[in-house]
Amino acid sequence: MTLAAYAAHPELTKGRRHAEPPAQARSEFQRDRDRIVHSTGFRRLEYKTQVFVNHEGDLFRTRLTHSLEVAQIGRSIARVLALNEDLTEAIALAHDLGHTPFGHAGQDALNECMREHGGFEHNLQSLRVVDQLEEHYAEFDGLNLCYETREGILKHCSKENAKQLGELGKRFLNGRRPSLEAQLANLADEIAYNNHDVDDGLRSGLITLEQLAEVELFERHAMIVRKAYPDISERRLVHEIVRRMINALVMDLLQTTQQRIADHKPQSIEGVRNSGELIAFSDSMRAESKALKKFLYDNLYRHYRVMRMSEKAKRIIRELFDAFMSEPRLLPTQHQEKAQENLSRTVADYIAGMTDRYAMREHRRLFAVEED
Ligand code: MG
Repeated sequence: MTLAAYAAHPELTKGRRHAEPPAQARSEFQRDRDRIVHSTGFRRLEYKTQVFVNHEGDLFRTRLTHSLEVAQIGRSIARVLALNEDLTEAIALAHDLGHTPFGHAGQDALNECMREHGGFEHNLQSLRVVDQLEEHYAEFDGLNLCYETREGILKHCSKENAKQLGELGKRFLNGRRPSLEAQLANLADEIAYNNHDVDDGLRSGLITLEQLAEVELFERHAMIVRKAYPDISERRLVHEIVRRMINALVMDLLQTTQQRIADHKPQSIEGVRNSGELIAFSDSMRAESKALKKFLYDNLYRHYRVMRMSEKAKRIIRELFDAFMSEPRLLPTQHQEKAQENLSRTVADYIAGMTDRYAMREHRRLFAVEED
């Protein structure tokens, strides 16, 4: 498969932070993807919440299956656009490595705890995991990934933090774009979570088909499926609608993007970085995707049963943070040395790395009167 001129070409990478001999039987981006799959952070994603806390049911998405879905959607689109599939996959698999336990509730709580200490942001934390926190290699901390992979992982960044990141932070200060592979991984993420949250939401019973009738993107496909298969079971109906929604989003994105690429004619990855957003939905699909997102926010993420878990999660994170801050000797031995250099950041790294169940267990170990 020949890469387009505007794709990320592995032999033209801006390189790794620590020089290494070239990969022998893989491209540099394949090597990055492989390092991510072999990392500890990646395995932790299996037990981290997407929306539903891991113990709530075996069939709900976790951060791991979410990341796999993002990679799959991203790769399919990358192939059609002659973009670099390996880089798209690497970014997709790594994009949530910095997530705390308990999803967004966990991140909000940790950010609140870190307010006086530089804050906590999960995108930046994903970068921190691959740049510093993984302890796998003899010669460097982190995974020593290529610039292009790191650029893709850092989706958002405050101006304040961007200033500390050198070359990688520059685009947040001068309004430039990342590679098309990075832009693609970002929208593949949106396609994946909107659709799988509909599926998980229905499965959990927290939202219903009747409620979803108000969402145009959903209802349009529901009508088509019901007409073609009047006796279809609910389980199959939901899946048939979701697959059609994913397909519609992907096809729209492809069409819009191909048009934009034809208009801008970027000649290289640098041309892409200097163009406006090239990977995009049409205006009407953007509006429909936004409406679905809003529906999920109002009806699923703000559902009282999700809120109860979120509040519990925030309490756990806050109490863990306060306990370690007031008595650093409660930290496991391997964190003690780093804690002497920077206590709050070490505590944040330790908590962010926890899986849902590890955080609950650690909380019990610190606060339960009776040991379990
Ligand atoms: Mg994600």
